[in-house]
Amino acid sequence: MKLTIKQQRFIEYVDNENKKKIDIHDVNEMFKTIILNLFRAYLTSEKDDDRIEAASLISRIHPKYRNKIKIWDVLDGTTLREDIKESIRIKNRTNIHSQKNRHGNGEFDSMTYEEWEETLEHFGHACAYCGAKGKMSFDHVHPFSKGGDFIKANIIPACLSCNCSKQAHDIGEWYQSKSFF
Ligand SMILES: [Zn+2]
Repeated sequence: MKLTIKQQRFIEYVDNENKKKIDIHDVNEMFKTIILNLFRAYLTSEKDDDRIEAASLISRIHPKYRNKIKIWDVLDGTTLREDIKESIRIKNRTNIHSQKNRHGNGEFDSMTYEEWEETLEHFGHACAYCGAKGKMSFDHVHPFSKGGDFIKANIIPACLSCNCSKQAHDIGEWYQSKSFF
């Protein structure tokens, strides 16, 4: 990933912070250190796999802690969003493959209500992109318009704000226009 000046400064900042002694009993300090280094790992990973793994971890930060993080603007929203989606695709690849094989006859294999509940459970009943709670809508990982199926492996929860605003805008603009970014 080609780093912007802002990102390079951020990495220098984290490297300096890492030289300081931290109190491992101070939960806030530990949280800050982990997040800083997770963001650093995301920005500096040389292999795509590593970057996607870091993106996956970033997407799993509990909604409760998301709004405490003030450094989202150091990440590029478009890339992060694509990496999060890719991490979900990789995780689901075998799953989608087996589903397609089972229904090779073209039969529509729709997600069940129970599967949607499981998906919500998996994402902590929060939006997969911004972590907001509340009413969730379906978001296709592989776009419906490009043949993505309405099956469990291809559906993640998105809050109405993310899902609606996303459709109206270019994806890059969309992520950056969100308040959490
Ligand atoms: Zn959202």
